[in-house]
Amino acid sequence: MLFRSLAVVSALLVAPSVLAQDVDLKAQVAAYVQPSNEARTAVVVEQLRAAGFEPTVETFTGGTARSGPMEGRNVVVTIGDGPREILMTAHYDAVKLRDGTMAAGVVDNAASVVGMIEAAKILKTKTLTHRVRLILLDQEELGLIGARKWIEAHGLTNVAAVVNSDVAGYGDTLMYGQNNGDQSAGITRAVRELCAERAMNCVGYPVYPPSDDRAFSAAAAPVVSLGFQDHIGAHQMWLAFNGGQTNGLAEGFVPKVFATIHTANDNMDQIDPATVRMAGEVYAALVEKLDRQLTE
Ligand SMILES: [Zn+2]
Repeated sequence: MLFRSLAVVSALLVAPSVLAQDVDLKAQVAAYVQPSNEARTAVVVEQLRAAGFEPTVETFTGGTARSGPMEGRNVVVTIGDGPREILMTAHYDAVKLRDGTMAAGVVDNAASVVGMIEAAKILKTKTLTHRVRLILLDQEELGLIGARKWIEAHGLTNVAAVVNSDVAGYGDTLMYGQNNGDQSAGITRAVRELCAERAMNCVGYPVYPPSDDRAFSAAAAPVVSLGFQDHIGAHQMWLAFNGGQTNGLAEGFVPKVFATIHTANDNMDQIDPATVRMAGEVYAALVEKLDRQLTE
């Protein structure tokens, strides 16, 4: 106990800015707890402006057969310049729960959005040969609609790589999907190099749950989908998706992450700002690595 409080005191003396940053990132994620996706759009725009960017809101007509036409809003910023682009994507919309209220949608996916904004802040200070476009997407939860509409509007001719993040609220283990086609093998390799260089826990999934990455891989773009969770949970999820009939998980067992997202449990109690900071650093480092490798 004493050691602990001493450690806290010395941490306060040595690194007040780090602690302040913790509080800040948690507050940044909490800001997305809103009664509508439209209100979440306003938070994205506000946070990007506060980070020194000039975001563009690209509206589209989305919605499903069930919902009817619904206006959607992708929020975009660009960093640097160059003939080829690296896209960074994360959806900011949340699902509506069965009782008709909005999920807080912080693990899925406000934490990724805040992580991506942190990554963009880091990348802004670097000299890159690619233009980096951060696209915070709407209507993922309705069926990857924001991503599809973005591709329809812009095409992918000059896109060298796409880095997507979905579910990154807690845990120290980076997850990456390996089911985005042969054109994505180079990005997967770069992720693995990064895991080794940073001596970071990583789990690759031959079968990985879909996110906006699928809209890009369907259009033949090189893409990886990333996320974070706890180490055990990451392995349980691996078994659930890749272990087949004899995966060894108890009958009826649901990995924590799936008992969390799209439920009332996806709330601020789950959010660890250390994960959000790590996500920002790792995503920035991956984009830097891809920028170098795709230039060589
Ligand atoms: Zn999601």
